[in-house]
Amino acid sequence: MAKSIPCPCGSSLPLASCCGRYIHGGQTAPDAEQLMRSRYSAFATDQRDYLLRSWHPDTRPPNIEHQPGEPVAKWIGLKIVSHRTIDDTHSEVEFIARYRIGGRASRLHETSRFIREGDHWYYVDGTLHES
Ligand SMILES: [Zn+2]
Repeated sequence: MAKSIPCPCGSSLPLASCCGRYIHGGQTAPDAEQLMRSRYSAFATDQRDYLLRSWHPDTRPPNIEHQPGEPVAKWIGLKIVSHRTIDDTHSEVEFIARYRIGGRASRLHETSRFIREGDHWYYVDGTLHES
């Protein structure tokens, strides 16, 4: 992986020293926001293993596969709206992710819930905002 690739999460750091540390580097995201950013970057770089690994086992889908013929989204930007710590092991992150699908720009506005077990944060589920 080239060090010069900018991180898709918009941090302006290289991928390898930002979300790449969690996706490829075996490091553990220290909080829910970092995990959220790294999951966005994993979507943007199609790292499905990481998406599944960072998903809580209770809500994790069996796999993340594209249906044949389904258009593939190109993720073009992430904005963290807020990061709310509920308690030691629960957090919520509201974000807006922009993507393009079949040439059409769209956005995903979601509040995601995260839970910490031991040293690891996991994505649990999310609520979509109409926007
Ligand atoms: Zn990043």
